[in-house]
Amino acid sequence: MASRRDFLQQGARLCALGALGAPLGAAAQTTSMEPPPDLFDAQLLDIDFWVKPRTLSVVRPASGERAKLLYWKDGEMIDSAYQELCHLLRDVHGRATAPIDPKLLEMLWGTQAFIARYGLHQPLEILSGYRTEASNKRLVEEGVPAARKSLHMVGKAADIRLANLNEEVLGGLIRSFRQGGVGYYYRSGPKGGWIHADTGLQRTWKG
Ligand SMILES: [Zn+2]
Repeated sequence: MASRRDFLQQGARLCALGALGAPLGAAAQTTSMEPPPDLFDAQLLDIDFWVKPRTLSVVRPASGERAKLLYWKDGEMIDSAYQELCHLLRDVHGRATAPIDPKLLEMLWGTQAFIARYGLHQPLEILSGYRTEASNKRLVEEGVPAARKSLHMVGKAADIRLANLNEEVLGGLIRSFRQGGVGYYYRSGPKGGWIHADTGLQRTWKG
């Protein structure tokens, strides 16, 4: 599968961040620290990281659901776990479920698995996954940041947050996959902002 191969290559590049060590851990302790300058320099290859079984730990603050699911093993998606993940990333408000792009799950897993190397094991908070057209339209009308032709409507986007990891570091990590779009939504307050990640064209924006 071409997309998986691409992802592995990008993943190998990301794994070079292994050289980063302490700086990411330090960044995780604060919400204001800028990512260190060498955050995205690729030097090391670590293919083992990308072929090992994939478990995603997610929480949906809107519904209170949380789950830890082994969804990919021996090069294959585990269908029952995939279906559960699609359910978790459903439109909570519109009460609708849709297939989620497997590439999006890879981006989410890669992010989580990478920071786990630094002792960070918090679940991914999914603020928004799939959205029905009606839900998306409602957000646009309410003035919430949402594109009219949002990739959320086709199961190719998620708005996420990771406790103790600032937007700059989280967004930078996802961007280093070079697999799609990354939107930075900075917000003040105890929980901070969030990152929009999608599997569309590679682009970056601040909202
Ligand atoms: Zn979004």
